[in-house]
Amino acid sequence: MFESLVDKFSGIFKKLRSKGKLSPQEVESILKELRMVLLESDVHYKVAKDLINRVKERAVGREVLESVTPGEMVIKILWDEIRKCLGGETQNLNISALPSFLLLVGLQGSGKTTTCAKLALRLKRQGHFPLLVSTDTRRPAAKEQLKTLAQNAQIDFFDEPDATSPLEVVKKARVFARQKSNDVVIVDTAGRLHVEEMLLAELRELVEQESFQETLLVLDATTGQEAVKVAKSFEEWVKPTGIILTKVDTDARGGAVLSIVSQTGWPVKLVGTGEKLEQIETFHPDRMASRILG
Ligand code: GDP
Repeated sequence: MFESLVDKFSGIFKKLRSKGKLSPQEVESILKELRMVLLESDVHYKVAKDLINRVKERAVGREVLESVTPGEMVIKILWDEIRKCLGGETQNLNISALPSFLLLVGLQGSGKTTTCAKLALRLKRQGHFPLLVSTDTRRPAAKEQLKTLAQNAQIDFFDEPDATSPLEVVKKARVFARQKSNDVVIVDTAGRLHVEEMLLAELRELVEQESFQETLLVLDATTGQEAVKVAKSFEEWVKPTGIILTKVDTDARGGAVLSIVSQTGWPVKLVGTGEKLEQIETFHPDRMASRILG
């Protein structure tokens, strides 16, 4: 994960650590190198520029330049600024309502259906009684996929074969969840290869008429800057409460996560770290900053 970013940073850090004192010019040239690494790792240029400027403001202070380990201090400041750029604090899912409804939206192929099942399994293991709901009224294969995942993980599943809209399915799922005493309801939605107006209009109708504790946008980390564009186009129709970033295990560059958080302002709540259902983790900005810095 993030191999290229980690590799490149480690080269610069080695140089930094080997130096005794640092002159302001040396700090400047190191920051330039760090900025290049961020850009090469698919971090948006504005995000990289802002991040490096904040590090610079803190790093050219007397405290750093006169320190006996200035290199370490620059690394620590960079870590702290990356942590802030990633959202600062860990943001947990809001599952306080009974039952709590979590809506997952995103493009086809982003890992949405798999993530629904991963989330359900994780909540089940934490002692909850989740219900998985498929609202893709047009693609039977999508429903079957979620149904099979639910069966394999022994999780309750609901769909309404005759329903004509996601709203109708969710209304019925509410009644079903009450009868079955499910405390968290995870709703999978249709996604297409591109953002399609008709599907988004259905989504908007759904979020306007039903209440969801979370509307989570599932984004594929490996798509880099494209994921930011996807986020922006979804924003016109639904306002996500957070992001689930998938496939971070196959994202060698690692810049997407920095760009996505700082350009959308939405917190990443969970990350997908593999194809298996167990491979989902809470997103901790501090730990992710450490991973990025190697
Ligand atoms: P959907 O079309 O958005 O519902 O996407 P799917 O759930 O069908 O997932 C598309 C592909 O991505 C499948 O092959 C999944 O196994 C894979 N996938 C999902 N999440 C992850 C992840 O976190 N890491 C990896 N490596 N693959 C994932």
